[in-house]
Amino acid sequence: MNLPFIDLRAQYQALQPKIQARINAVLEHGQYIMGPEVQELEERLAAYTGARHCITVASGTEALLISLMALGIGLGDEVITTPFTFVATAEAIVRLGAVPVFVDIEADTCNINASLIEEAITTKTKAIIPVSLYGQTADMDEINAVAARHGDIPVIEDAAQSFGAVYKGRKSCNLSTIGCTSFFPSKPLGCYGDGGAIFTSDEGLAQACREIRVHGQSKRYVHTRIGVGGRMDTLQCAVVLAKLDRFDWEIEKRQEIGDRYNRMLDKNNFSRILQQPDRTSVFAQYTILSKDREKIQVALKREGIPTAVHYPIPLNNQEIYRSLYLHTPTPVAENTAKLVISLPMSPYLQNNHVDKIVAILCQC
Ligand SMILES: *Cc1c(COP(=O)(O)O)cnc(C)c1O
Repeated sequence: MNLPFIDLRAQYQALQPKIQARINAVLEHGQYIMGPEVQELEERLAAYTGARHCITVASGTEALLISLMALGIGLGDEVITTPFTFVATAEAIVRLGAVPVFVDIEADTCNINASLIEEAITTKTKAIIPVSLYGQTADMDEINAVAARHGDIPVIEDAAQSFGAVYKGRKSCNLSTIGCTSFFPSKPLGCYGDGGAIFTSDEGLAQACREIRVHGQSKRYVHTRIGVGGRMDTLQCAVVLAKLDRFDWEIEKRQEIGDRYNRMLDKNNFSRILQQPDRTSVFAQYTILSKDREKIQVALKREGIPTAVHYPIPLNNQEIYRSLYLHTPTPVAENTAKLVISLPMSPYLQNNHVDKIVAILCQC
């Protein structure tokens, strides 16, 4: 077997005429920056999530940075987040001179433990960034309630892995003050380069994000804020538009494959990420926990099956971050980082691939 970890080629083959027509349309009109596809995508995505505003940006990382800037977060402010995430979550915080405060995770979902947030709040806390890890949201209502009790601290959902997921009947990216997602090619809804989006129903924040995205300008060459060069280009918006019609079908497929993995692994007593009954996962990753991680990686690799570890080192153990954050122990994150291993997942993965992967796991 020579299985891709995420099968972008099969998706391209299924959507080829649509993708090429959309790209050709951009080449014909030539508006490569802020062309009509940008607004079209923003309207479609806002409607999809239910948020009033969508602002497309250059990447998921930029979405987090611009959101924090729009909230006025800067030097010495504290931002509560999880250490068990991709580095971009904390990077956006420290880039602004703010301080990440890492709160430990739940052992079964690997998302931030909402019940530990309150004790981490101080007078300097200016935002909370839960991450919807592996495609499943954290307990957003619990987090929103804690934030509301402490003077309405803004909550930014890092939904880079969870676009399309549902929490208590509402869509990821529309669950808190701001939602940020990524269209990095391997994310559930990916483009063919870098891209991302910010979602909010707050008019003032939406306006701030729009201006910060283009060098803080309120009108051409009138700069009323400090901004960034953070636009998503028209071609990448066109690619996402081409993929959007098939996206719900792809989510269904991901969930069917996720369920199949779940059933087979449960039968064989493997430990895996738990999906909560009040929310769905879009399975950006399908992740299990095992003390035999290395053995599993070797056995799958021998059969041409790739794996990945998301993430091997919690951010508060990264050397460069040691001097930048407030030290609180996160023993669950530390232990989990030693156990997690992600298996191949894409809407185009076949049942017999899943069966083969589980059969190999059972021999480890
Ligand atoms: C991918 C990812 C990001 C960053 O998105 P980019 O588009 O690659 O900048 C941020 N947070 C999380 C949790 C991610 O998985």
